[in-house]
Amino acid sequence: MPDDPLSINYFEGLFTRLKQNSLLLMDTDGFILDINTAFTGAYGYTRDELVGKNFSILFTEENKMKDLPRRELNITLTQGSSSDNNYLVNNEKKLIWVAGESVLLNDQHGTPYILKIIHNIHIQKESEASIMRLNDLNESILSSIEDIVLVLNEQLNIERANSAFFKLFNNNKNLTETLPRLENLFKSMDEKEDVLNSIRETISQKKGFSKKEVLLIGDDGKERIFHASCNILHNTIPGNHVLLIFHDITHNVQIEKEREDIIGFVAHELRNPLANIILCNEMINRLVHENKQEQVLEFVSRSNNNTMRLNKMISELNDSTKVNSGNFTLEYSTFNVSEMVKEAINTIAILQPAYDIILNDNVHGLEIRADRYRLMQVVTNFLTNSIKYSNGNVNIYISLQSDRESVTVSVKDEGLGIAKEQLPLVFERFFRAEKTRNMEGIGLGLFLCRGIIKAHHGKIWVESEEGKGSTFYFSVPIS
Ligand code: ADP
Repeated sequence: MPDDPLSINYFEGLFTRLKQNSLLLMDTDGFILDINTAFTGAYGYTRDELVGKNFSILFTEENKMKDLPRRELNITLTQGSSSDNNYLVNNEKKLIWVAGESVLLNDQHGTPYILKIIHNIHIQKESEASIMRLNDLNESILSSIEDIVLVLNEQLNIERANSAFFKLFNNNKNLTETLPRLENLFKSMDEKEDVLNSIRETISQKKGFSKKEVLLIGDDGKERIFHASCNILHNTIPGNHVLLIFHDITHNVQIEKEREDIIGFVAHELRNPLANIILCNEMINRLVHENKQEQVLEFVSRSNNNTMRLNKMISELNDSTKVNSGNFTLEYSTFNVSEMVKEAINTIAILQPAYDIILNDNVHGLEIRADRYRLMQVVTNFLTNSIKYSNGNVNIYISLQSDRESVTVSVKDEGLGIAKEQLPLVFERFFRAEKTRNMEGIGLGLFLCRGIIKAHHGKIWVESEEGKGSTFYFSVPIS
């Protein structure tokens, strides 16, 4: 302590006896003249360790690089005081957040000194930082979840909303001034009243609700189905607030509806041949009693045909679930592709003698390694379709081509053809072109063909012109 620098006795008492606030006295070049005991207690330095050193040793390297010690001195000297919030390096080289206030004083001889009062704000700064980190975390959680999250006040005005909300209901604008009103989001008046009343009840009775199904209209004009859930928001901003969450279930509802449609459709399609079989059996029963042998045979044959139809549909359904779940396995063997195609043609020709299936074989006994049974299923399906959708044109052309790597099979008909806009859909599950919906079939054959060819790492495609005919192709690697 310099020789009574301020010539005020009580200042010396103040300097030495302060327990909470650390004091540091230095000259105008920043050389430390004295520290009080509170300083030693707070930052570990003894008086001897600091007196005579420049106060810049208390700054971090980064702050020294920024020239903060000199700037602090300059401001104090020119403006009479300065304050800052910085890290102070204690004598164990640990960083402690401090708030410092420096004042310029003169002793009785007019010599200027600087008194720096240092306050430890480490805990406060750390908790501020952790609150900020928590806020950042909350924000990023909120913006990453797909559910719409809203904070409503007692008047049911939207006070806060996450990005999922802005995406759907505010054209991606994040402006709170233009936030839409909650009541304008609903499609039906009844649902709106029901939800708004339930939110009011949540506030008055402090008991929330969950999974109320509502239909909301987005900015794009599209309707979406949500599960709304609401709860009181505890320990936050003053006043009663509720958290309202909308979980989009549009997709699930659509899937559920599609599933029901499919079940209904499949049940209907299965019932048709089954009804025929029941009818045939009744007829057979009657005809046997009446001893009408010839007619019995006719109905047995009809019953057989329908049994085969039923069997085909059930196999297709079974295989299609395998294709969909990725459980479709192939049984590889080496076989003659021309022979396999001829076998398929013969099977169809026996059933459909009126049709002329013309083979153009350019591979002549080429051997390939593939699943013979499954590839024959594809050829048979192409041929059956070409006949089914032939519109009475009896010529069907089947061709075999090969390059070094793959073999390509095509089946061409001169029948109904497929409309251009429907072409991309023909290999989809349950697809049936509009014009053919009244005909027998469940739209699984080509879906299965695609699954089989995909499993062979091959290609499947179609060329078609409505009213003129179609050509279906597949190619698979030779080995
Ligand atoms: P299905 O014949 O049992 O309906 P597919 O999956 O084999 O099922 O065919 C799907 C749909 O593609 C058919 O319903 C039909 O509308 C159309 N399609 C398939 N092959 C042809 C073809 N050769 N000519 C015209 N349309 C066809």
